Amino acid sequence: MRIDAISVIPQVFEGYVGASILGRARTRQIFEFCAHDLRDWTHDRHRTVDDAPFGGGQGMLMKPEPIYEAVEAVTAFDERRPHVIFFSPCGTPFSQAEAQRLAGEERLLFVCGRYEGMDERAYELADSVISLGDYVLTGGELAALAVTDAVVRLLPGALGDEMSARDESFSDGLLEYAQYTRPATFRDMEVPQVLLSGDHAAVDAWRRESSLRRTALLRPDLLDSADLSETERRFVYDIMSHEHPEGEV
Ligand code: SAH
Repeated sequence: MRIDAISVIPQVFEGYVGASILGRARTRQIFEFCAHDLRDWTHDRHRTVDDAPFGGGQGMLMKPEPIYEAVEAVTAFDERRPHVIFFSPCGTPFSQAEAQRLAGEERLLFVCGRYEGMDERAYELADSVISLGDYVLTGGELAALAVTDAVVRLLPGALGDEMSARDESFSDGLLEYAQYTRPATFRDMEVPQVLLSGDHAAVDAWRRESSLRRTALLRPDLLDSADLSETERRFVYDIMSHEHPEGEV
C-alpha cells in the first residue's frame, strides 16, 4: 500500500511511521509513506495557505487553490488512483470496520486540515471525510497517523504474529477479554485460576465470558450489532441488570 499525506507540518509524521511495528512494516515494504508540504503548491513569497472567512468570524481558513493543486500533483506521483481522505469533526466517526475497508485499498491520500478548517469547496476532492471522535484537534495530522496505524497493522505481514489481530477488540463486535502475564500473584492480585489450568476449552469459555461481561458493562452500545447466541444474549442482559460498571470486569 502507498500512503501520501499533505500537511503544513509534514515533518511530524516521520518519528511515528518510522518506529516500532510501522517502521518495521515500512522497511519490509508492506507500505510506503510519503509526507508532502502543502506550501510547495503556493505561488506567493509568503507561501500562504490560509485566508480570512467570508462573512467574518474568528480565525483563518485553508484556501482551496493549494489543496487542489497538491492533491492533483501528489495523485500523479503514482499510477494507482488514491482513495482521498479528509479529516474533520464533521466526518464519519472512524471505526475498526472502516480500517478494514481502507486496508483493502492500494493507495490512500490524506489531506490534513489546520487553523479553523478548510474552504468547503476543498471537500469536493474527498472520497471520505473521517472524524477521530467528538473533540477538536488543532490539525488533521494526528487523525492521519491514527488511520495509518489502524490500517497498516491489518496489512498481511505487518504484525509479527499473524494471529494477533484476530481476537482483539471489535474483531467480533465485542471488546477484548481481560489478559494477564507473569507473575501469577502481584501485590495480592491473583490471575484467574482457570488461565493457569492448561484446559484450553475452559480458557476459551472464560475469555468469551470476559469479553461479553466487559462489553455489557463498558460498551453496551456494541451489543446490538454483535453476533451472540440466545444463551449469550440472556447472559449479557443478566449482567446489565445486576452488575455495575464500577465492578471488576
Ligand atoms: N472549526 C472546525 C475545527 C477545525 S480544527 C470545526 O469546528 O469543525 C482544524 C483541523 O483539525 C480540521 O480541519 C481537521 O483536519 C482536524 N481535526 C480537528 N478535530 C478533528 C477530529 N475530531 N477528527 C478529525 N480531524 C480533526
